[in-house]
Amino acid sequence: MRILVVEDEHRIGTTIKKGLELEKYAVDLAFDGRDGLDLATTEEYDCLILDLMLPGIDGINICKKLRQDSIHTPILVLTAKSQTEDKILGLNSGADDYLTKPFSFEELLARVRALIRRPSGSQNPVLKTGDLELDTISYLVERGGREISLSGKEYSLLEYLMRHSGKIISKEQIISHVWNYDDDVLPNTVEVYIRKLRQKIETPFKNKKLLLKTIRGFGYKIEN
Ligand code: CA
Repeated sequence: MRILVVEDEHRIGTTIKKGLELEKYAVDLAFDGRDGLDLATTEEYDCLILDLMLPGIDGINICKKLRQDSIHTPILVLTAKSQTEDKILGLNSGADDYLTKPFSFEELLARVRALIRRPSGSQNPVLKTGDLELDTISYLVERGGREISLSGKEYSLLEYLMRHSGKIISKEQIISHVWNYDDDVLPNTVEVYIRKLRQKIETPFKNKKLLLKTIRGFGYKIEN
């Protein structure tokens, strides 16, 4: 899952980015409104974290612009003021939730998780495909009750596929949602990670169904 943080206070922005990366998200950071709007309209994100008071274009106008352009990425607005008008203005402009500064990282994380869960309609933090389970809060992955140890990127790839279980996901979509803007992604990077994932979720479970399918010419699909 990939997140864009737009925050002109470098210390806060960098702290949020580092914290979210430790939680296995791919994160891009913009320090002003114009760069933020640019990234939000050209890249694919699963959630935006948007400060309201920004140089260039303010957060309210970024929200409005994105919604006008039919970009429905969930938006969490950060506001320095605890004034109600600001929150209402943010929510009326198309934001999905808000957080008043100062906030704890745990609170930010809980809200981001809730917003990312929202589009799939499921409020259950445990994703399931057949007997494969992925807990998006503890990061525990199990198959048939047996724990599977994944690297950060393997986990992110599996989470993305499982959130779209049953749907064909292209290599481009995977790159957009699992890696950030600054990551070096080589043409065969996705294949390499798909192979690593198969070695962990399928190879050790010889008598069980293959869950991860390659749809030649289109991409990949995970399904029971
Ligand atoms: Ca600010």
